[in-house]
Amino acid sequence: MRMFEKRVDALMTDLILSPAQPIGPVEDYLFRVEFQARGSPHIHMVVWIEDAPGVQDPEDCPDVIEFIDRYITCRMPDEKADPELHKIVSEVQIHSRNHSKTCRKGNVSCRFGFPRLPMDKTIIACAPWNDDEDAGGNKKGGEKAKDANDVQEKECGTKKKKRVKSPRNLLERNKKEAKEKLKPVRDFLMDANASFEDLSDLLEKCKMTHDEYQDSVKALTSGMVVMMKREPKDCWVNGYNPDLLRAWNANMDIQFILDEFSCIMYMMSHVAKPNTR
Ligand SMILES: [Zn+2]
Repeated sequence: MRMFEKRVDALMTDLILSPAQPIGPVEDYLFRVEFQARGSPHIHMVVWIEDAPGVQDPEDCPDVIEFIDRYITCRMPDEKADPELHKIVSEVQIHSRNHSKTCRKGNVSCRFGFPRLPMDKTIIACAPWNDDEDAGGNKKGGEKAKDANDVQEKECGTKKKKRVKSPRNLLERNKKEAKEKLKPVRDFLMDANASFEDLSDLLEKCKMTHDEYQDSVKALTSGMVVMMKREPKDCWVNGYNPDLLRAWNANMDIQFILDEFSCIMYMMSHVAKPNTR
């Protein structure tokens, strides 16, 4: 246990808080070391970065995307160009194709979402709202996002009026459809023997256009989520910061926090939790 605390201390002092600023200029941080009965010790940490951009419009936030891509990647490093990092990522950042006991939660087969869906570029995916049952999936994402704001404003103004349509049912139905549409993609990703040049190649094999794919991915989303730029071959790689991973040399899961609510929930569930052991 002492060893682990020393390691954490070195990670903070010599790297995260050092002038090298591997994840940017740190404004504040909060972390908690957790020693599990049978599991390995680990830390949960929230770091506030100076001038980190916030999301106003998920469809158009290039500064947020640039910020995420600057610090987080899920790319398997090239073995020849960076054998050291390639080895570390291979050993500690790959989610097992067999999953683990902690993966299953309710009827979700992997609550960590592996294999994760490939993306040409990092996006903030936001579940589309669709107020018109007959419009189906024909509307463009931007229009859907605007609809979402309208619906929310309407709801705030007329809280007690009963809504004629049930957006929740519609959302669930859209989700189900999207899940079915994405099934061939997932099947290919699950197949250890399948390989693809890139996302276009994978989608071609699934007879799907990029637009159909993006719409399905967004429909599957609950709230806002970051979908990292990812090649099909990297669908089992968990996100990491190259500098931190090189120094830490153990599994990490690093994420950009999209909204304060999820940040507070995260801190409540991990950082502020009283140690019961
Ligand atoms: Zn899993």
